Amino acid sequence: MSKIEQENYVKVNLSPKNPFEMTFLTKDKNKSLSVENPKNFGEKVSMEAQDLTRTLILSHLIIRHFPKNIETNFNLEHSIFLNSLYQHYGLNSPRIIKNPDQIKIKKISDNTNQEKEKYLSANAHSGGLDSLYRAAKFLSENKKFIITHVKNLNHKGGYREALASKTQAIALGSPYQEILLRNGSDNTGFATMRTRDMFLALLVAVSGAQHGIKNVYIEGDMQNEKKSHFSEYSPAWDFFNNLLTTVGLPTIKGIDAHDIETVAELIKLESNLNINLLSLVQNCFSASYQLPNIRKKWETATPQIAENSPSNWCGSCLKCRRMTLGRIYYHDPKFQNLTQEEINFFTNDTYKWLKNYSHNQDLISDNFIRHLDNLKNQR
Ligand SMILES: [Zn+2]
Repeated sequence: MSKIEQENYVKVNLSPKNPFEMTFLTKDKNKSLSVENPKNFGEKVSMEAQDLTRTLILSHLIIRHFPKNIETNFNLEHSIFLNSLYQHYGLNSPRIIKNPDQIKIKKISDNTNQEKEKYLSANAHSGGLDSLYRAAKFLSENKKFIITHVKNLNHKGGYREALASKTQAIALGSPYQEILLRNGSDNTGFATMRTRDMFLALLVAVSGAQHGIKNVYIEGDMQNEKKSHFSEYSPAWDFFNNLLTTVGLPTIKGIDAHDIETVAELIKLESNLNINLLSLVQNCFSASYQLPNIRKKWETATPQIAENSPSNWCGSCLKCRRMTLGRIYYHDPKFQNLTQEEINFFTNDTYKWLKNYSHNQDLISDNFIRHLDNLKNQR
């Protein structure tokens, strides 16, 4: 791991109006992160769970800077989380300093009298392949679940992800809930995985409390290698689940069908449930205004693939290639008329792309490469 640049001293203020809104004061532009909606976010969970949520908001907001000293205007509980996070990256625990103007935090009380419908599980849903696979799997197992989308957790594509999540919920006949973040943090790129999935899971667990949620599901495939980011690291999840238990929140479980195999599972679920699932997946990396242009290449060279791919498929980004590879490899019936020329074009083009894409190897799994190699050797 390369050496981490640490900032010496930062100030973070909690809003007096919203107990889940924080501002990280910096010399140039202040950064902020808040839960805007639902307005009753935090109801029906313990004060300790509300405090833990604040610790996660703060962590997600400042983690790009790994500050040595953090001054806050509120009492930061559960700094054990920060300590463990820092330790994972080989750093000493940060020192928490109390600003003299402390905000007194009141517990969010249970104002909503209306009994909400109860669900056993919540699916932390991004609208991409993996979350749709989990939701479709629950449906096929007759599980009672709610789809929860955290909007603006990722810096780009917030609108598209939310729309896809909602459309998928409707297609599956599942209840849908949205948590709206205002995300003015600078926590972007691959480094966001330091905290992202734990922050996501906690938000879903807290908002699920109103529905009596007992299980929260997110993407699985947690890693055992120390070099992986904190929120992808298996032992860190054991620690985090313990913390959730102590504050009275449900623990988080990861579900995963590996990588390309997820496409195979979705093809099976599509025919079991008789719902056109693959066309609902939204995880193309290309901007929507660029998509038609990028797609043209595939329409010309691989007309059958293009014609049988959804409108939000650009063909060329990692996510779209993952989808195409899985559908060819696992014999999607909609691809039954593909010619060998089209398949060859796809594999050759993907090898070329991998060569040009080498700066981003973190994102490409061994599993992807293995499937691609097998497909080539099948010729
Ligand atoms: Zn794409």
